[in-house]
Amino acid sequence: MNVSAQWQFDLPGHARPGDGDLAERWYPDIQSAWPKCTSPRVYDPIDGIRAVVIHGTQGSSSSGAVSVMHAGKASFHWLVPDENEDAHGKFAWACVPEARAAWHVRNSASHPEVWNGENRINHFSLGIEIVNAQDKKDPFSDWQVEMTARIVRYCWLKYPNLKHVVAHARLDPDRRKDPTELFPWERFRSLVLTGSDARLVAAQTDGDDDAGGYAVYG
Ligand SMILES: [Zn+2]
Repeated sequence: MNVSAQWQFDLPGHARPGDGDLAERWYPDIQSAWPKCTSPRVYDPIDGIRAVVIHGTQGSSSSGAVSVMHAGKASFHWLVPDENEDAHGKFAWACVPEARAAWHVRNSASHPEVWNGENRINHFSLGIEIVNAQDKKDPFSDWQVEMTARIVRYCWLKYPNLKHVVAHARLDPDRRKDPTELFPWERFRSLVLTGSDARLVAAQTDGDDDAGGYAVYG
């Protein structure tokens, strides 16, 4: 199976979603990491956004992923927590302001189908990391896939020139395999494009506290 062929889809500009609500909270004390691992965007922070990049952390916890930011090695805009974490099923962690470039793709990486092969992708993209071991044994939870789709739909509504949804593996195939073939790319694509997954709809229309937090702003 040619997995790499599944690693990108483009968002039709005429079908932007109307439901852009996003359950997110700032990761505690994350601001102190920003001087070490983020940059001012070279493009306009609204009109310049062309892509969302999907990653897997290759780790087992949100705190482990965030430690990479504090070490000044890499960064990402959102972090989707793992099954055994309190935030799972409730919200994503916001880690870098969208207006700043996070460091999640190598500067020299590019792909001809992502903004005509421009490099320095961090400057025209947003990065989502999903906590996952990336060891071919750790499945992504349904909620992780749904939350990641929610974030992309939020971005799709917000950024007028956003077009590409692409896996890190497609942008840097010699060095990266994330989010790996365990990530259900087809279900994810369907959730993003239609927003019609039964579980998502149920969570959005259920007023109970255990509805999954989709309607709650952090
Ligand atoms: Zn990655």
